[in-house]
Amino acid sequence: MLYINKIIKISAEIKKISTNTNLVIVTKNQDQNVITHLVDAGYVHFGENRIQEADKKWKNVIAANKNINLHLIGPVQSNKAKDAYRIFNYIHSLESEKVAKIFSNLDSKQPKKIKYFIQVNIGDEQQKNGVKFSDASNFINFCIKELKLNVVGLMCIPPFNSNSEQYFIKLKKLNDLHGLKELSMGMSSDYLLALKHGATYVRIGSSIFN
Ligand SMILES: *Cc1c(COP(=O)(O)O)cnc(C)c1O
Repeated sequence: MLYINKIIKISAEIKKISTNTNLVIVTKNQDQNVITHLVDAGYVHFGENRIQEADKKWKNVIAANKNINLHLIGPVQSNKAKDAYRIFNYIHSLESEKVAKIFSNLDSKQPKKIKYFIQVNIGDEQQKNGVKFSDASNFINFCIKELKLNVVGLMCIPPFNSNSEQYFIKLKKLNDLHGLKELSMGMSSDYLLALKHGATYVRIGSSIFN
């Protein structure tokens, strides 16, 4: 199948630049057949941006395949936080104090060891999700020190149609400042640049499936 060939090609490209970067296959617009096919082919990192859609598509698959890592890459509303906690292994979009507190509370009851990325609104765009760059350090410290969340790194989506490189450099610096090990950045249009600047998770959909 065509998309498997594309995954193989992209994986090889990634490996050439960085051996410790994971490809998160973004299946947000894909149906059940594609998911089953990819899981059967042995892939383990998948990204979804809507909690309910992910639950529907993945519930049975993750119950039968414990090695799957499901990554939430879209926003979490506080009333959906519990559902997100149940199905995802990684949250790339932590940005609100309220949701962070809910996760912290769930962690304390049942330490599932979710890996959290804090999403930073790296271009300071009005409509974008993520914490403001100027608030990021405070929020990172709050999540790690007060809430004891397992924050592994930062995540960003650079402004559309911009040169992503300056934003990747900025996020990497902030990540290093906090001693964080992982970095979630790079999509179809800019993952090669993200790799150059230290991404350890790239999230790719359209260049695999379109
Ligand atoms: C959809 C999406 C991606 C994948 O984007 P493509 O351009 O299709 O590769 C990555 N990250 C987030 C947060 C997304 O919503």
